[in-house]
Amino acid sequence: MRIGVLALQGAVPEHVAAVQRALRASGKRGEAILVRRPHDLEKVSALIIPGGESTTISRLIDKFKLREPIIQRARAGMPMMGTCAGCIIVASGGDGTIEQMKLIDAQVVRNAFGRQRESFERALDINGYDSPFCAVFIRAPIIEKVWGECKALASVPEGIVMAKQGNILALAFHPELTGDPRIHEMLIGMV
Ligand code: GLN
Repeated sequence: MRIGVLALQGAVPEHVAAVQRALRASGKRGEAILVRRPHDLEKVSALIIPGGESTTISRLIDKFKLREPIIQRARAGMPMMGTCAGCIIVASGGDGTIEQMKLIDAQVVRNAFGRQRESFERALDINGYDSPFCAVFIRAPIIEKVWGECKALASVPEGIVMAKQGNILALAFHPELTGDPRIHEMLIGMV
């Protein structure tokens, strides 16, 4: 299987390494593929939209004519994971500064943790996991509310930080930075 990492800006090499770790951990054969153009997207069976700067990533998605192809693949059932900036991009509502893909019924707030706490770690209880996941938050958004078919999988006192709607996962934090392969394994398991 080929797991795509949208490689326009942001934490791209970190996700490639995390996909490789998760493939090893799950004993599955496959590879991580950089997705930069629509023809790259045709090769992959799942896609990660990484953290970075959501305004920049969104602008580059349009520049390289990836928006419609990504939305179409997602609607056709391709597993996708948006982390941090990627979470903002796949959500339905926000502050209006970027065009969101509206793939999950979720409303997000950018930079929700304020300047004092630009970056921090939390041991996070995730639904269905038997031990906490060390989650790294970097100028993170929060998922303010979910509705419809979208379900919260993890929360902190400030709000929801992980949600799933069918084939789409959205995370306010960076799951690729700590070496724990479980969330990438979860995405691989959805393929
Ligand atoms: N603050 C960034 C944004 O609003 C997201 C930060 C991140 O992806 N680590 O796009």
